[in-house]
Amino acid sequence: MTGNAQLQLEAEQSDDRIHRLFWPDSVAIVGASRKGGFVTEILKNLKKWSFAGEIAAVNPRYGEIEGVRCYPSIGAIGRPVGLAIVGVPSGNIPDVLADCGNGRVGAIQIISSGFADQGDEGRAKQARLAEWAARTGVPIAGPNCLGLLNAANGLVALQTPFQSMKAGGVSAVLQSGMLAPSLLMPLLARGIGIGRVVTTGNEADLDAADFIEHLVDDEETRVIACYCEQFKRPREFVRACERAAERGKPIVMIKVGRSEASRRSALAHTGSLVGSDVAVDAVLRKLGVVRVDTIDELVETAAALSAAKKPRGGRVAFVSFSGGAVSLLADLAEPCGIDFTPLPDDVRQRLDAVVPEYGSVGNPLDLTGQSVYEPRILEEALSALGSSGAYDVVLWGRDFPSPLDLRGTIGTAMRKAGAGAPDVLFGIMGMVGGNFFATPDPASDMADPAVSFDGMPFLQGTGTGLKALSALIGHAEFARRWRPENRISSQWDRRSPHCDTALRMLAQTPGPVLTEREGKHLLALYGIPVTREALARSPQEAMRIAGELRLPLVLKVEAPEIVHKSDVGGVVLDVRSPEDAAQAYRRIVEAVAAHRPDASVAGVLVQEMAAPGSEVILGAKFDPQFGPVIAFGLGGIWVEALKDLQVLVPPISRSEALEAIARLRGISILQGARGGAPADIDALADCITGFARMCSDLTNELDEIDINPIMLGSRGTGLTAVDCLIVRKQQAKELE
Ligand code: ADP
Ligand code: MG
Repeated sequence: MTGNAQLQLEAEQSDDRIHRLFWPDSVAIVGASRKGGFVTEILKNLKKWSFAGEIAAVNPRYGEIEGVRCYPSIGAIGRPVGLAIVGVPSGNIPDVLADCGNGRVGAIQIISSGFADQGDEGRAKQARLAEWAARTGVPIAGPNCLGLLNAANGLVALQTPFQSMKAGGVSAVLQSGMLAPSLLMPLLARGIGIGRVVTTGNEADLDAADFIEHLVDDEETRVIACYCEQFKRPREFVRACERAAERGKPIVMIKVGRSEASRRSALAHTGSLVGSDVAVDAVLRKLGVVRVDTIDELVETAAALSAAKKPRGGRVAFVSFSGGAVSLLADLAEPCGIDFTPLPDDVRQRLDAVVPEYGSVGNPLDLTGQSVYEPRILEEALSALGSSGAYDVVLWGRDFPSPLDLRGTIGTAMRKAGAGAPDVLFGIMGMVGGNFFATPDPASDMADPAVSFDGMPFLQGTGTGLKALSALIGHAEFARRWRPENRISSQWDRRSPHCDTALRMLAQTPGPVLTEREGKHLLALYGIPVTREALARSPQEAMRIAGELRLPLVLKVEAPEIVHKSDVGGVVLDVRSPEDAAQAYRRIVEAVAAHRPDASVAGVLVQEMAAPGSEVILGAKFDPQFGPVIAFGLGGIWVEALKDLQVLVPPISRSEALEAIARLRGISILQGARGGAPADIDALADCITGFARMCSDLTNELDEIDINPIMLGSRGTGLTAVDCLIVRKQQAKELE
């Protein structure tokens, strides 16, 4: 079997295993009790929400619990069980597993704690659980979690006291059980339907990547909401997200670990390290995963991303009948990432004709309270905005959290405008969150835009709502532009033609840190222009080399121990003659001997001095989970002070590099602000793409790279890497 066919088969098998968890034909609740508890609440929920299958309880102490027949063991049920939901002490789990084996169980959900969440002994128990799942092929979700849910078949295997349940397109993968009610209750309260939800717990067997992968192919799932503390198998996680990108299915995620404090708590919680957050941020951005910070944002963004219709662009018109709302919205646009595109002249004229004089014709648009009583104003305004071709999204700002009465003035106008502009996404946003008023008036026929006019689901909260809309627009754009060659995974099984040579070069440089000269050989191999240079071992040799190079020159100490050469007087700039070169040689050797008597100086590097230009830093860090992460920005004196860096993940296309360069806060400096010459941005983009290829090739070898600085010349003159620091991965030997 080829590698790909093998992968495909494994994916299908794991998918089938997860299918068994969400779609069992019968459920046994092991550890249900008349005294109550987690799994007993699950038993009640299965009954309350009419689970579409047989339910049995397992507990030798009872014959019946909550009207459900109770058996002494799974084996005693006498028929195969689709899903066993287990809530017994961790010490009794081996017996339950043996029982599951006898009783032919399709899948197991273990709620119980006391595994990797509890010391070495717990870890050993969890390892046995994983072994059992691998040996029998029976999938296990958990342990140490709150359960799972499938709204489509009434499998409400969570202990949450839901007030309503509705099947729909929001699915979730949560590494914290608490998030399940936090996410689901607000969505259900406003009538947004739920697909499949799992709290993954310790992930002894199935992990978040497995579930994401499954949900990507789950037809009813329109958005996957995630709460993640760690990625157990980063590569599988990346592949699952890439599959989502390929299918245009949005993922929204809280990924904790932004601060040291939460990193520590994540450690205690999961027993494994959280990767560096900057790397995670860049990786998620590359994967098109929308990263949010709060649970409110998770709820709102999941709601927005579940819209069946995607915005065709980012031009948003906002309408309400409040001048206050309009001013507030104008202020929030930029921080929330929203573009309220100004009104084109023809639209302005149409609006001027209907909006009362005391309103303000602009975007955001205040139609004034008068419009409530004059349907003509509303209809004409919404139709003017919708049909103008100038807007991709038209948002109605509502004064309190409730959908619209479809027969009311606004409802009627929205519906008409929606029908007249099928390419435009219409939405309603309550300007405030909090209690959701499903029907402020019992006689009303309330409508959610997602249902009534193919719009975006109702959003709540001004800040969270706008950010969610921004995420929806951003993801639609991401999906339009996504190409298979953007995949992070594409660098894992492909090496550039230079790779073998690069590996050979590395093999010949045994030190843990490469000298500037050795580093530049690697850069040159990947097409990055470097200074012409040679190593001198005496002042006379420096003089001779100087005679062969273009003046002026720079002389630098070469010693494996010296990483920052200027700090020890190891760099002399602007050397203008061979005689001065000999002099500079002596000065450097003296200075270094004074500062670092321990250093074994190999000689002095004599190199051409690059023409003055913008100093740029380009570097890479090799993340243990995700591989190379590349950062660049304005270097020299700016780098520390401004922290104006862009972070990217290979592979990096030329256009991706150009876009990242354009995002630098200091881009105006490179574009020639204040009469300076514009810099050679194209050369920088080429340099970044070449560098990214080198980093992909050498992922397993390197730990850190700094090219600091690159001298970036004016347009058409290119660039030169004048320094280079490459740190290899610690050899296993050195780590011992
Ligand atoms: P360090 O090890 O201290 O970082 P560098 O090689 O980066 O040493 O040199 C220090 C500074 O000198 C650089 O930041 C750059 O401004 C300048 N410089 C070094 N080499 C050159 C060169 N070949 N052409 C122009 N400027 C250079
Ligand atoms: Mg330097």
